Amino acid sequence: MKREKESQYYKLLRKLVSQLRCPICRTRYRSKDIEILAHHNEVWLINVHCTNCGAEGVIFAVVNEDERQFGELTPVEIRKFKRMPPISADEVLETYQFLQEFNGDLVELLGDQ
Ligand SMILES: [Zn+2]
Repeated sequence: MKREKESQYYKLLRKLVSQLRCPICRTRYRSKDIEILAHHNEVWLINVHCTNCGAEGVIFAVVNEDERQFGELTPVEIRKFKRMPPISADEVLETYQFLQEFNGDLVELLGDQ
């Protein structure tokens, strides 16, 4: 990915993530609470830190090159995810702990396509 395009995505992702709230205390993330860790193809790994309660979280974002949509899903996937319960604080914590202990690289973590 070209550096110029990458910095556009950084801006876009920061803007989108700053619309989200901490799952624990519902405080909105600020730009400085958001750290973009890495990306593999269109999958981006973002770390968020809540300055209010101190909770850490990891967000996986998919940026589609062609459609420029955030997390584009097929209608079947949308229906599937709508039926799923919301992500709990425990799940966020488990993912965070998993990533803390994970020694591989991003390609290994996300699986090569
Ligand atoms: Zn919080």
